[in-house]
Amino acid sequence: MSSGPGDILQLVRRDEANTRRDIQDLTGLSRVTVAQRVDSLIDAHLIKESGGGAATGGRRPNRLVFDVQHSMLAVATIDTAHSRTAITDLSGRILDHETVDVAIVEGPEAVLTALAASILGLMERNGIGLERMAGTGVSVPGPVDPKSRRPSQPPIMPGWDAYPIADHLAEAIPVPTFVENDADAMAFGEQSTGFSDSNALCLVKVSTGIGSGLVLGGTVYHGIDGGAGDIGHIRLAGVDALCQCGSRGCLAAVASGRAVAMELSERGVPARSGRDVGALLAAGNVDALELTHTAGQRIGEVMATVVSMVNPGVLVVSGDLASSALLGGLRETLYPRSLARATRNLDVRLSSLGEDAGLIGLARIVADSLYSADAVNARLA
Ligand SMILES: [Zn+2]
Repeated sequence: MSSGPGDILQLVRRDEANTRRDIQDLTGLSRVTVAQRVDSLIDAHLIKESGGGAATGGRRPNRLVFDVQHSMLAVATIDTAHSRTAITDLSGRILDHETVDVAIVEGPEAVLTALAASILGLMERNGIGLERMAGTGVSVPGPVDPKSRRPSQPPIMPGWDAYPIADHLAEAIPVPTFVENDADAMAFGEQSTGFSDSNALCLVKVSTGIGSGLVLGGTVYHGIDGGAGDIGHIRLAGVDALCQCGSRGCLAAVASGRAVAMELSERGVPARSGRDVGALLAAGNVDALELTHTAGQRIGEVMATVVSMVNPGVLVVSGDLASSALLGGLRETLYPRSLARATRNLDVRLSSLGEDAGLIGLARIVADSLYSADAVNARLA
């Protein structure tokens, strides 16, 4: 293996090595070289020594840990009706957060200006100056081009296509900025928090729209053009409903929060967004429960194909409509329509992180990129 300081940092971050001795054993480097590289990481405040560690021969080796407090990250999850911002440490732990009531249809200028103001406010409230900020991350409810990292023809984000989100935010907070699809960020948050031993996790987010994210081998799988997991516009047989994307018969046209809200309104129960449906579900509204159960069955039909293709270990159901009604409906169609082998070890569950999944996932994506072996080796060269 290559074993520059950045590679040593990865061993410490992943908890594979916590002492200089561990590093020597794992890398085959000499004691002197390990000491030099560890010193350079300590000087850069990337790792720190903490007491403890198993005693060997009377000496207590100092435990080396990634210093997750030496810099901070700002993250923002943009959603249709509102957004959330947070300050986190480098492990993704949320130190403070805020909800920003700005609708995505107001366009990128208005939304990003509001998010930047919120982040600057959170920094001020927590006494964190710009010099302590290492990076920012933003998630959007639409596909992101893997090369430009800009929204790529997002169906529910009018005016956002190819908008330079990172450049706009960096004007207010001049640090490296990362843009990610929301379901991908949520999937990474769930995988890295509760299922880090799972080699394949799939998350389906059912809010006003429907999206999904895949984490394979510990990494978000984006696909060649950022289109992986965009299941909301898969066409269902026997469905003719008009979708927001302009096509007919899409899954989102019958099973998204928007679709359920429209059906509720037709029944005389006013609802406009996934959030409204979520509130009705929480209040035990019978129509909302019934329609969400049916939406779950529709989503299960599509997820049966996904599960048969990917054979994940975990399927997390998240978003405003995530509920036992949705989960129940999903199971009813998922299991009978999948091969037994694809589901026998599949853990189908509701998200336990809820809205925090996206914030945590974003922070970890940003940290993984800023503190990758290559990035750190280049910085300390
Ligand atoms: Zn569609």
